[in-house]
Amino acid sequence: MERLLLLYLRDKRTAGIVFLCIFLLQIIIGLAFYRYPDYDSNFTHLMYVAVTFSAFFFPLWIALSQNIVAGLIMGHIYAVTNVSRNGNIGGFLMLTLGYFISATLIIGLLKNKIIDFYLRKEEIFYVDEFTGLHNISALSRDVRHFKEQGNVQPMLFLLVEIVNQKEISTAFGMQLYYKLLQKLEQQVKISFQTDLKTYQIHLNMLGILFPPNEGIDSRSLQKRIAQTVEVDNIPIFFNVACGSCVFPRDGTTVDELLQKCFLALLETFRRNQNYCEYSPNLKAPQKVLLLGQMQNALEQEEIVFHYQPIMSAQGSIQHIEALVRWDHPQMGLLLPSDFIPDLELTEISDNLVEYALDYNLHNLKQLSLLGFDMHLAINVTIKNLQKVQFAQRVLSFLKRYRLKPSVLILEITERGFLADAEESNRNIKELSESGVSFHIDDFGVGFTSLGNLRKFGIRSIKIDQSFIIDMQEDPINRALVDSVIAMAKAVGISTVAEGVESVEMLDILRKMGVDYFQGYAIARPMPFEELCVWLQENRGQTTE
Ligand code: C2E
Ligand code: MG
Ligand code: MG
Repeated sequence: MERLLLLYLRDKRTAGIVFLCIFLLQIIIGLAFYRYPDYDSNFTHLMYVAVTFSAFFFPLWIALSQNIVAGLIMGHIYAVTNVSRNGNIGGFLMLTLGYFISATLIIGLLKNKIIDFYLRKEEIFYVDEFTGLHNISALSRDVRHFKEQGNVQPMLFLLVEIVNQKEISTAFGMQLYYKLLQKLEQQVKISFQTDLKTYQIHLNMLGILFPPNEGIDSRSLQKRIAQTVEVDNIPIFFNVACGSCVFPRDGTTVDELLQKCFLALLETFRRNQNYCEYSPNLKAPQKVLLLGQMQNALEQEEIVFHYQPIMSAQGSIQHIEALVRWDHPQMGLLLPSDFIPDLELTEISDNLVEYALDYNLHNLKQLSLLGFDMHLAINVTIKNLQKVQFAQRVLSFLKRYRLKPSVLILEITERGFLADAEESNRNIKELSESGVSFHIDDFGVGFTSLGNLRKFGIRSIKIDQSFIIDMQEDPINRALVDSVIAMAKAVGISTVAEGVESVEMLDILRKMGVDYFQGYAIARPMPFEELCVWLQENRGQTTE
């Protein structure tokens, strides 16, 4: 309530409108009373409501002049309508005027007292309830103030994020965390030795507004914001990242300044550093935008798949991998790296996998009708596999297109496979028993043991292209690939080499004992129509 009142008092436009309304109300009530003199006492009572409002909402001198005018009009009306009863016009006028003035004075003075009290308490708007630090409203007030001054000197705004806030709060509790924030603020003020202002922006963010024309040396920043602070005799380590921008160059409102600092902060994470200054070259991440558009893209069939053939050591082509592409109406053809990593964590990945199964099994059926009996590999995420009844959904798509389960290969990345869970194991088991194969994608970047894979019925591993591409120059990678091939053979798992970019590499890998090859040396990923032409041209290789 007190916040509402103060907000109202600051809003001059609303105050003006209310002023007019009250004045009109007084006149309307007066006129109504004039037309119905018999109801005089009720209407005069209503008039006091209007007087009370005006005295409460406006400065005393405005309310007083308004109510003197209203009192004169009312007194006159009152006197005229009652003149027949006692004939004293002057008396009525004085009486009404007296009532109005004294009511206005009493209410107005009382109101001033209340406002004084609240204005003293106004700071509650600008400080955080729990830490006592200035909050985002204080920053907004100060920025507005600087802007109103006009012609302001550049001021650096630094946003400090406590990256491990959740860990600290969980380990030590909120009370201790609040103390930590207070200590951090004091420390910042002392170590910069300048007249800066600090604000608590969120639970995990502290904003620092430097005095005009003062900068910071990014190298000394880490020293100034010490990373271990002692609170209640407990040393607490906190991990900070900082982003900065300049007022008014990069923004003249809190929203703009924060947006620029957030962008700089994102850049620090991307670069694995702890400080970054905003620059117009930093681009807002498209991923959030893309995630929001994904569902619509699936409905509008903007999501398409390109196919890359996989060749066996004997030179036959009986496998293809479906690789997703987004034919974005504004951004052109997007690659999986533009949207898959973020999408993998969301529920939309379930919709994508359904779409992928439908789209690709339909095309696989078309290929078989053209006389190409291919095995098709689809990439799935661990999130997909953890979905209840995923196995039944896959089998129902196969049934819909009258395809045998053995034509389908599901590729899971090694990273995903490690996060094994009961539901995904159940799905893998059920699908494996039905004849669907599982391949481990990007093998070598994680720590999966081959013995473990065998246990889960994994038939094949795809050696990550990072080992293959520079194998010729890097003897360690070659040794690693050698040992992976040897171990895979020992446990009866076949191997696929990804990223085979040259014929020489293909020969080397073949000699090393790799079973299948995928890469630009054989073919690049291509749209379905091109794949059909490619397969026609290489028909000799498509039968064993
Ligand atoms: P991946 O499954 O390991 O796919 C192989 C990637 O290597 C593809 O990149 C392919 O275009 C690229 N590639 C093939 N041959 C060569 C070569 O000789 N040299 C080089 N440098 N690269 C080659 P792409 O299409 O950008 O896909 C990247 C990753 O995105 C895939 O890696 C896969 O993990 C993921 N992905 C693709 N489609 C889907 C999908 O439908 N669903 C999900 N969840 N993930 C997908
Ligand atoms: Mg793959
Ligand atoms: Mg791969």
